[in-house]
Amino acid sequence: MTQLLLVNNLTKVYGNHKVADSISFELEQGTITALIGPNGAGKTTTLSMLAGLVTPSDGSILFQNQPKADIRASIGFLPQYPKFFPWLTALEFTEMAARLSGIEAKKALEDAKKTLEFVGLGNAMKKRTGTFSGGMKQRLGLAQAIVHKPKLLLLDEPVSALDPVGRRQVMNLLKELQQETTILYSTHILNDAEEMTDQLLFLRKGALVENGSLDSVREKYANPRILIEFESDEEVDRFITMSPWAFSREKRLLVIDAE
Ligand code: ADP
Repeated sequence: MTQLLLVNNLTKVYGNHKVADSISFELEQGTITALIGPNGAGKTTTLSMLAGLVTPSDGSILFQNQPKADIRASIGFLPQYPKFFPWLTALEFTEMAARLSGIEAKKALEDAKKTLEFVGLGNAMKKRTGTFSGGMKQRLGLAQAIVHKPKLLLLDEPVSALDPVGRRQVMNLLKELQQETTILYSTHILNDAEEMTDQLLFLRKGALVENGSLDSVREKYANPRILIEFESDEEVDRFITMSPWAFSREKRLLVIDAE
C-alpha cells in the first residue's frame, strides 16, 4: 500500500475553541475513508484544512511525502453547500472548473463532457444549473470535484441531503471512482459509512476518538461497548442510526452490534 496523505497533529483553534484537536491519520492510495461525527465535531474544518481553504493553527499535512501539494491539480473538493452560478449550463460550469484546475481549453470541454456523462448528467449538460434538483446539483458538485482527475477527493457530506435513490447513485459513483482516486468523505449518518468504507475516522469535539476498519471497530465495540457518549438528546437526534448500529437513548450512548 502506498501512502497518499499523512496528517499529523492537525489543530485549528478559533478564539479559545479547539475545533480540531491534534488530529493524526494516514490515507492509503485507492481507499475510501469516512470521517464520521455529529454536527459540530469538526468535520468541515478538517476537510477544509486538507483542501487548503483553512490554515491550520498547528500540525502538518504531507501529500505524497511533500508538505506542499499542488492543491488545485491534485485535490478535488465538494463542499457541503456547493455554489453554482444559476445562469451557467452544467457543461459551462464543469468546463470552468476544469479550466480553473489548469486544464487547457479544448481538453477542458472534452473532460467536462465525459465527466458529466459519468455522473449521469449527460442529458442535462445544456441546462442551466439554476433549474437543477437537489440530486442533480449534488452530481454536478461531484463532477466539478473530479473533472481534473484529482489524486485525492474530499467530499463534505456528499449524500446527507439526498433521498435513498440519490444516495445510492452517488455512493455507486464513488465506488467506481475509487479505482482512480483516494476518497475521504464526511457524514453524520453511520449507515452511509457502513456501505463502503475501508477506514473509519470518528471525530468528536474536534478529537479523533476512533480510527480503524469497519470490522476492527465492530470487533472492538461488540458486546456492546460505548462508542460515543452523547451529551444531549439533540446530539443523539443528529445521528440517524440503523441496524446493525444501535444506540441507547437513555444513556446517550452509541453502541455497535449491541446484543
Ligand atoms: P462539522 O462539519 O462536524 O459539523 P465544523 O467543522 O463545521 O463541524 O464546526 C466545528 C466547530 O467549529 C463548530 O462548533 C463551529 O461552530 C466552529 N467553527 C467552524 N468554523 C468556524 C469559524 N470560522 N469561526 C469560529 N468557529 C468556527
